[in-house]
Amino acid sequence: MLLRFDPAIRQADILSRRYAERDGSALLRAVLTEAYPGRTALVSSFGAEAAVLLQLVAEIDPSTPVIFLDTGRHFPETLRYVETLGERLALTDIRRTAPSARDAAEHDADGGLWRRDPDACCHLRKVLPLERALAGFKAWITGRKRFHGGPRGGLPLIEAANGRIKINPLARWSEADIRDAFARLDLPPHPLTALGYRSIGCATCTRAVTRDDDVRAGRWAGSGKIECGIHIGADGTVRRAG
Ligand code: SF4
Repeated sequence: MLLRFDPAIRQADILSRRYAERDGSALLRAVLTEAYPGRTALVSSFGAEAAVLLQLVAEIDPSTPVIFLDTGRHFPETLRYVETLGERLALTDIRRTAPSARDAAEHDADGGLWRRDPDACCHLRKVLPLERALAGFKAWITGRKRFHGGPRGGLPLIEAANGRIKINPLARWSEADIRDAFARLDLPPHPLTALGYRSIGCATCTRAVTRDDDVRAGRWAGSGKIECGIHIGADGTVRRAG
């Protein structure tokens, strides 16, 4: 089989060496002002930990495009939290990205795809809208951390994915680091964290957990699914909708 070379892989390697000593705010500043000014977007779930990364980005450039995948299945609390954080951090370019109405009508007419085939549902409501939203960007920033476990346990700070650079500035942060940052920066918590939601996605596929559970145990609980697909490469592991 002929493998195509992805130039982003080489670029990720170069950046990883150039910024090897940086993470958090220092890495964000390097990416937003040196490596890809005006060509970088932050992708945020506006979930339980999101405020920290949003704050760090806002301190550097509050006009950074922030992509929020509005799947149509979010908790009302999350949708209000988008507004709360947007105002509080003075973010000026939050982009709510919805699934294509045509895709939804064709593949999820009854709204039950999340139950029948969650991989296909995530593909339709997250993966495809993200691909469209990232058109024109060279790099994107994610809030994933190694302590989330599973495939995130060995997360690099800089990686290549589908022709773009992906930056994970909080990869090395612990859950305690996040908690401390919320306190230090006086950030408003997502309202559902008080009810035991430690990782928050679509309402249909998220439940509260205990402190003894893994942080992401409430996502697609009991299904074996652990990622939505936006962080899986184009290697055929995520099926296309329909
Ligand atoms: S998390 Fe659930 S409802 Fe949301 S896009 Fe994925 S399968 Fe669909």
